[in-house]
Amino acid sequence: MIPKTGAIIPRTDGLDETQTTPEWQRILAAAIRDPAELATRLGLPPLAPGVAAASQDFRLLVPEPYLQRIQPGNLNDPLLLQVLPRTEENLTVSGYSSDPLGEQAATAAPGILHKYQGRVLVIATPSCAVHCRYCFRRHFPYADSRPDRTLEQLTGHLLAHPEIREVILSGGDPLTLSDDRLAEWSEVITRQPRITTLRIHTRLPIVIPQRVTPNLLEWLGTLPIKPVVVLHANHPNEIDLAVIDACNRLSHQGVTLLNQAVLLRGVNDQADTLIELSDRLFQAGVLPYYLHLLDPVSGTAHFEVSEHRAIELISSLRARLPGYLVPRLAREQAGHPAKTIIAG
Ligand SMILES: *Cc1c(COP(=O)(O)O)cnc(C)c1O
Ligand code: SF4
Repeated sequence: MIPKTGAIIPRTDGLDETQTTPEWQRILAAAIRDPAELATRLGLPPLAPGVAAASQDFRLLVPEPYLQRIQPGNLNDPLLLQVLPRTEENLTVSGYSSDPLGEQAATAAPGILHKYQGRVLVIATPSCAVHCRYCFRRHFPYADSRPDRTLEQLTGHLLAHPEIREVILSGGDPLTLSDDRLAEWSEVITRQPRITTLRIHTRLPIVIPQRVTPNLLEWLGTLPIKPVVVLHANHPNEIDLAVIDACNRLSHQGVTLLNQAVLLRGVNDQADTLIELSDRLFQAGVLPYYLHLLDPVSGTAHFEVSEHRAIELISSLRARLPGYLVPRLAREQAGHPAKTIIAG
């Protein structure tokens, strides 16, 4: 019998406190990469043999502060479900493919995705601070991604497209980059006078809130253009006091904070959960922006929630929340000029 509650087994090695690297980088370097270790730490039953196969192509990655928010012994914990590889990932399901969004086709130059007018999205790094099993970029050919070349080519792309007003740093997760690397990116971007906004798509302040350092805040606060940080949290349990504090510090620096979530079966497909997510986000000074329908990426079909159910959920939210706490239900479709808003 696995107890429903219990204590997380403390790690045995401990974080190396002797180095001068920032704490968040040490936390990231020490993140759990072995499914068996995760199971032991959380007092879970031994994992099915197929789990190892599932995690071969897209490895497990769980940093300590995220792990601390998982309930030990609970295989259905909504945070655990987002990160634990499952044998179902090995299934081939019709309609699910490796590049359903046609991102390869929209690639203007290596790492530069110019799909929507006025905005350009760049893959600033292939690295993330957590590996989300439903990720729509889990099959992205990151091995071919060359952020240095992307950075070099960005200037030319911005000059050739004077209609671009906003650059979106994405990935991977751009906040896995060092502050020095981020400064190199913003230097290139802010050199173009037409760019008014720098947007950062990141899950880091959620999974490792220690990433929001005084240095990072200073960089954001001194940018000559408007910073927007679009976070990614799917469940209210992801937003603990440390996350709220990190978000507050970002807000005080003049950063506009939004959240995008993915609608995931078994994780957040109940109205009460989504309402609590909106409430917690608001406590942290973050407005819900998008609720994405799952992209049909192979290995993720077990997370699918039907569009019908999704619309029902948004209607419940509409009835029970102020309009500004209702996210837009969106689906991304290959070749469309913008995300398709379904409801909200
Ligand atoms: C989602 C996305 C954007 C931004 O779209 P918004 O609706 O402005 O949030 C830009 N480029 C790409 C490639 C995207 O996928
Ligand atoms: S952090 Fe974002 S890009 Fe990275 S695995 Fe999770 S969803 Fe994918």
